[in-house]
Amino acid sequence: MTYIGRFAPSPTGPLHFGSLVAAVASYCDAKANQGKWLLRIENVDTTREVNGAAHAIRTCLTAHGFQWDDEVIVQSERSQIYQKYLSQLIDSKIAYPCVCTRKQIEEDHHAIGIEGYIYPRTCFLNPPNTDSAHTWRMHVSHQQLSFQDRLANTVTHDMANDIGDFILKRADGIYSYHLATAIDDALQGVTHVVRGEDLLHSTSRQLIILQALNLPTPQYMHIPVVKNADGEKLSKQTKAKALQPIEAVSNLFQAFDFLELNPPQSLKNASISAIWEWALLNWRQRYKFI
Ligand code: GLU
Repeated sequence: MTYIGRFAPSPTGPLHFGSLVAAVASYCDAKANQGKWLLRIENVDTTREVNGAAHAIRTCLTAHGFQWDDEVIVQSERSQIYQKYLSQLIDSKIAYPCVCTRKQIEEDHHAIGIEGYIYPRTCFLNPPNTDSAHTWRMHVSHQQLSFQDRLANTVTHDMANDIGDFILKRADGIYSYHLATAIDDALQGVTHVVRGEDLLHSTSRQLIILQALNLPTPQYMHIPVVKNADGEKLSKQTKAKALQPIEAVSNLFQAFDFLELNPPQSLKNASISAIWEWALLNWRQRYKFI
């Protein structure tokens, strides 16, 4: 079987423990399956990118013993590709222009979905004049979209009631995370996505884009996210600490512990290569094998 996995950090800050856990899980799953593990820098939203963060993430991953396969893909260099696929969706009338502001949507919405207001389809029903800046939205139907997550079991969304018509490209020209990630996963031949469960509800949007474009869909596994003492997900917004490369062994030990691999105390004194050897063997025992 061919296995291609990936780690796709957003360079909005340095690597923190939460992102290390996602990197470790995706790496163990790929390598325990004799697969490839790709690194993709998800800076499609250039307004959130922090100068030097992509470089710092790569350096920190290397210090922790990660080795990625093939070339590193950088989303900010791939606009033409995203536009090509967006144009296909526009030509097939699945994507449509929208000039509604956030405030209008707040005032006009009739329903709330799993992540906020459902777009009331104002611009789908009355196509706007597109001379001025506008977003592009994906039109979804009342289709039930289900997928089998390896840890969370079956997830089903009624696309119109739970998600609604969602943004593919913003008015400032930035492609959405969903569009860019779905296309990159397909074009990179990713067969297995392993990432944090905060993205569990993003998956149906990515699958519906891939289905509409007739592109292959990966399997998904969403792992628990790391939270701070206040129950918030570790992130730049919640001021997660940057990982120190010098503490690589201890960081990895803690990540294995979080992922319930039950690392023995003796591993704390092991070398990076011994610690990875242990992890790959033990990953198979803890997680359902594919
Ligand atoms: N770039 C996303 C993040 O850093 C991860 C996207 C994904 O794994 O699909 O949270």
